[in-house]
Amino acid sequence: MAECRIVDDGHRDDRSAHVALPNTSAGSAGLSKPSAPVESNLSGSSESQRRVGRLAPSPTGRMHIGNVYAALAAWLSVRAPRPSDPNDGHRPGVLRLRIEDIDTPRVRKDADRWIMDDLHWLGLDWDGDPVYQSKRGDLYDQALHDLREADLIYPCFCSRAEIRAASAPQEGDGYVIYPGTCARLDPAERDRRLAEGRRHSWRVHLPAAEQRFDDTVFGEQHFDLARQIGDTVLRRSDGLYAYQLAVVVDDLLMGVNDVVRGRDLLRSTALQLWIRDQLSTAGWHAVDSDDNSGDIPTRPETLPPETLPNPETTSEASRIPARIRFAHLPLVDDPSGKRLAKRDRALDLGVLREEGVTPEAVIGYCAWLLRLQETPQPVSARDLLTDFSWEPLRADHEDRVCDPTVLFG
Ligand SMILES: [Zn+2]
Repeated sequence: MAECRIVDDGHRDDRSAHVALPNTSAGSAGLSKPSAPVESNLSGSSESQRRVGRLAPSPTGRMHIGNVYAALAAWLSVRAPRPSDPNDGHRPGVLRLRIEDIDTPRVRKDADRWIMDDLHWLGLDWDGDPVYQSKRGDLYDQALHDLREADLIYPCFCSRAEIRAASAPQEGDGYVIYPGTCARLDPAERDRRLAEGRRHSWRVHLPAAEQRFDDTVFGEQHFDLARQIGDTVLRRSDGLYAYQLAVVVDDLLMGVNDVVRGRDLLRSTALQLWIRDQLSTAGWHAVDSDDNSGDIPTRPETLPPETLPNPETTSEASRIPARIRFAHLPLVDDPSGKRLAKRDRALDLGVLREEGVTPEAVIGYCAWLLRLQETPQPVSARDLLTDFSWEPLRADHEDRVCDPTVLFG
C-alpha cells in the first residue's frame, strides 16, 4: 500500500522544470477564511456517522503480504458490523479505492490492474470507481494556492545535501527535521530567487504547537509540530505533489473518516490533521459521505466571497478537525528486522498465486498477524467479519516478523 513513508522528498535529481503556481498576486488583500463554522458531515459522534474508509495502494508493483495485511484491516474496519452503532445494518460503511499514483517515476504500468485483480482474488471489495490521484492535480493546485494565500507555505531552495548538513536526524528513525533555513530568508531575497526561476519546493510552515489525536491501536498521541515534524514539503522541486498534501485533500473531499495504515505514519497523521484543519479554515469541507455513488467531485466547493471573514469572529468550532478514526498497525518485518518490501519476491502475490497458494491461506496468515486468530490457518475475509475487533491488536501491538521461507509450508 502507499502508506508507508514519511520522507523529505523536496529535492530529486531529475531535471524537470518546476511548475508555476496559480497566480496569487491579486488575492492576498482579501483574507480567505470563512466566517461561518465550516460545515462538515464528519463532525459529531464517531458512532453515529457512516463509516468511510479507503484502500490506498501505490501502483509501484504487485501487492505483497504487508499490503494485504493493511488492506484486510482497512476492509474489516469498514465492513464489519458494529453492534454499538444504532445506524449499523441499514447504513453500511463505504470503502473507496484510491490509486496513489502521483509519484510518477515510481509508478509501473498496469500495476493498478494487478492490485485490483489481487484484491478481487482475496475477496476484498470496494465501492464505486477507483479514484486516481494522477487525475486530481487541479485539486492539489487549488489546495497549495489556498495555503499560500493563508501565508502557510514558503519556497525552499535548499538541496538535500544542504538540509542534511544543517540538521540532526531524530533519534531512532532517522527522520530529518528541516532546519528552517528558507523560512528565515529575507522576503526580497526570496522574491529575487523566485523571479530568477531558481529550483524550489514548497514547504508548509508548522507552528510550535501540539497536535493530539487518539489512535485505536496505539492510544493517545501527541506531537510537537515544529520540534518533532518540522516544515514539510508539500510540492517537490520537480513539480510533483507530495503524499502529505494529496492524502489530506483526498481524504477530506472523499469524506474519509476511517483510516487504517502502518504505525510509521503516526507522525504523518499529526501533520495531516494540522493541514486538514488549515484547509477547513480556508473553506474546504468534506463531501457528503452518504453519497455512495463513487462520484468524487473534482473541485472543492468554495464559499461565495460575501461570506468572507472576519477572522476574529470565526468560531472555535470551525477549527476543530472533523472526527476521523485512526488505526495504525504494527509494522511487519522480515526475520533480519528489516521492513517487508516489494523486493521480497517470495511474498509477492504474483508468485504466491502461481505457486497455488489460496486466497484463504493469505488472508488467514494476515488475520493471524492482526491477532484475529491464534494460528495462521486459512480463512476467508468474509468469515472474519462477524467477530472482528481491534481489541487483540490493541493488546499486542509489537511489530510482527514475517519469515518468507516458512510461509504457507
Ligand atoms: Zn530551504
